[in-house]
Amino acid sequence: MSLKNKKLILFFSLLLIAGYVIIGISIYEYTHKYAEDQNKKKLDQLLLNQEALHSYLEDHLKPVIYKLKEENKLYNDFFDPKVLSFTYIARGIHQQLNVLRDEHNITRIYYKLATDNPRNSLNSASADERNLLQYFRMNPDVKEYSSIIKENNQNYIYYAMPVQPNKDSCMKCHSTSDKAPRELVEQYGDKAGFGEKVGNIRAIISLKMPFDDELSEANRIFYLIMGMFTLFLFMLFGIVLFFIRKLDYKQHIIEEKNKYLSILAERDGLTNVYNRRSFDTDLANRIDNPTLTLVIFDIDYFKNINDTYGHQAGDDILISLTSLIRTNLREEDQLYRIGGEEFAILTYKENIEDAEQLVARLIEKVSHYDFNISQHIHISAGIAQQSNGNSPLDLFKRADDALYRAKEEGRNCYRVG
Ligand code: GH3
Ligand code: MG
Ligand code: MG
Repeated sequence: MSLKNKKLILFFSLLLIAGYVIIGISIYEYTHKYAEDQNKKKLDQLLLNQEALHSYLEDHLKPVIYKLKEENKLYNDFFDPKVLSFTYIARGIHQQLNVLRDEHNITRIYYKLATDNPRNSLNSASADERNLLQYFRMNPDVKEYSSIIKENNQNYIYYAMPVQPNKDSCMKCHSTSDKAPRELVEQYGDKAGFGEKVGNIRAIISLKMPFDDELSEANRIFYLIMGMFTLFLFMLFGIVLFFIRKLDYKQHIIEEKNKYLSILAERDGLTNVYNRRSFDTDLANRIDNPTLTLVIFDIDYFKNINDTYGHQAGDDILISLTSLIRTNLREEDQLYRIGGEEFAILTYKENIEDAEQLVARLIEKVSHYDFNISQHIHISAGIAQQSNGNSPLDLFKRADDALYRAKEEGRNCYRVG
């Protein structure tokens, strides 16, 4: 796979992972917020019940008792918390509710009217509840506190709310013991629950609502969505991977074709050495190099060879010859096929003697080489070294003329132009 596509896949994978994490966190937050909202709805219903109970007590029950007192059907100091204390009644109902919840295997609800000035020690605030009570007294605008807690392996949402600040009507029982009903003082003494002032927040409603049901529902939805989402991402990843691989394969084919095309464009099909087009380009590009030396060589009497041994043998000789020449050149020297059995070498020599030495060696090598026919092959060559800012054409003409002379003057030799 190409580096570019590997990077693309890496980038896409990172993008998917980042998206997965962000969406996962969002879904988790959303489902768990939903669970909390559901729990809060249950709480609101419980508080509505509480409010209804309170209203009933204040608006219906107490007036009946006060009327009975007025009509002297009840003596004036009559006090029984079972009918006259909302706190007592609310606690009693909750105790009863928890008994029923136990019977039905439903987690208990913790409910308490917690105060730091309790009449009944059952309402005494814990250290945390006292802190919250203080907090609500100092921040009258704050109407609710909630947090998720875990107790005995059960999850709860803990809620705390301040009760209404004391009104005038509360003072009868909560200011001083001499104003309170005699029976109340007899039952709870003359200290507990007194000393309250109008406007003071006397207590908080302290509640622990079981949260396991909503939580497990939220987790179920969360895992379901994440499961589907994971599957979707895997499928998406698979599809993208498939297309990237396909793209990669196409790119690979195009690259191979381009390579092949460039070989076709710059190399000779039979011998695989550079062709005439490459020669023209390279000669033009290197002409300014003062050490550039051009050698042109041509196989002697090649027509006869073809005629004697056949065209295929001629082809084989061309292939063997180019590989023989190549192995006798340096890495920076370049060999070209510039015509049927005519070749050029671009080499770099400080002086003409070095070039002559090279060409003499090549002529010698070729003449002793066994080309698998019953006679030896010879080549003739012309050499021209760059001088006086020759143009490519000038240099070529000098080398070509020298080759012509070599042919004229006996072949199997070189001449310098
Ligand atoms: P000279 O020594 O004067 O160069 O004689 P020559 O016979 O080599 O020169 P001539 O130009 O008369 O003939 C060149 C021959 O090279 C003609 C052609 O059959 C042969 N030739 C050119 N290209 C190829 C090729 O690709 N394959 C084969 N087998 N022969 C080729
Ligand atoms: Mg020839
Ligand atoms: Mg020729």
